[in-house]
Amino acid sequence: MSKNGSSYLPNQECKAVYKELKQFLPNQVRLQEPMSQHTTFRIGGPADIFIEPRTIVALKEAIFYAKDKNIPFFVMGAGSNLLVRDGGIRGMVIKIDRHLAKIKIDGLTVVAEAGAALSRLALNCCQANLAGFEFAVGIPGTVGGAIVMNAGAEGCAMSDVVQEVLVLDQKNYFVRRKKEDLGFGYRSSNLLGCDQVVVEVVCQGVPDQKEYIAERQKKYLRRRQITQPLRYPSAGSVFKNPSGFAAGYLIEQAGAKERQIGAAKVSLKHANFIVNLGGARAKEVQDLISQVQEMVAQRFGIQLALEIRIVGED
Ligand SMILES: Cc1cc2nc3c(=O)[nH]c(=O)nc-3n(C[C@H](O)[C@H](O)[C@H](O)COP(=O)(O)OP(=O)(O)OC[C@H]3O[C@@H](n4cnc5c(N)ncnc54)[C@H](O)[C@@H]3O)c2cc1C
Repeated sequence: MSKNGSSYLPNQECKAVYKELKQFLPNQVRLQEPMSQHTTFRIGGPADIFIEPRTIVALKEAIFYAKDKNIPFFVMGAGSNLLVRDGGIRGMVIKIDRHLAKIKIDGLTVVAEAGAALSRLALNCCQANLAGFEFAVGIPGTVGGAIVMNAGAEGCAMSDVVQEVLVLDQKNYFVRRKKEDLGFGYRSSNLLGCDQVVVEVVCQGVPDQKEYIAERQKKYLRRRQITQPLRYPSAGSVFKNPSGFAAGYLIEQAGAKERQIGAAKVSLKHANFIVNLGGARAKEVQDLISQVQEMVAQRFGIQLALEIRIVGED
């Protein structure tokens, strides 16, 4: 990666890579793609090369190419937990989304491709009279991103339902990894930043009646609508809850609620959300994050850790 904000791939080289990739991944590659179009924050500078593989084979080929040419690559899902800096991402971004999104349910076993929307997984399981996935309704990520982040809500998380995952490992081989080997913790797993790509997730549900499951889902969705600022772009909770406290409560008590820098604002509705009022830059969000951290540290002596991932260059 470059350190001075210039392209990792010089412009000419970028175009050459783009041309080459386009030949074996037709209609799947873009040049200088604004990441603001691929994050729920609606923020982020351009990716040098942006790839949306249509098949698992195409995904494997894209990764092989990046490794072979020594081009750094970053894998993303729905971009709902990401703040991409204003300078964008050097090298390749590989987005795993709706093209790799099959969900199969067989008895109590659910097999989902990494790009499947988490909400759809929850709804399909409900239709199949399978409980355990209700917490996932309303989380705007993919199954792959949710496994890596161990996404959760309402006291449940992906680690409660997953059995194993299929990854492309560092050598670009398909490998199955059991739940016990994934190092799940609060909003974390050992898949985070480890250069392994989640391709498929195998989960297990519990039998229940769809009417009861739907009722719980409705309740959880209603709670989100009441407590979260869903009308504005955001990346969900910015900070992890420190042990014994809600980050939102600490932020509010420290007087940081409604703080604003440029078009980035600490939400009035939920102090752990920073919202983009329109055209916010990553720098504004980062400055606001630092300000909130400082205020909470001064008032409570607690250092808030980030739940969102900040990537790319200033
Ligand atoms: C309004 C709103 C509400 C939210 N509510 C919740 C909530 O209740 N609970 C919760 O936990 N989160 C919540 N989030 C955050 C976010 O939706 C979750 O963290 C989600 O699981 C991220 O999935 P994603 O596909 O968007 O991942 P991305 O944001 O695209 O990526 C997140 C990380 O996962 C990695 N990654 C993604 N896909 C893969 C893959 N296939 N293989 C390897 N690495 C991968 C990326 O490199 C990155 O490090 C919320 C976000 C928003 C905007």
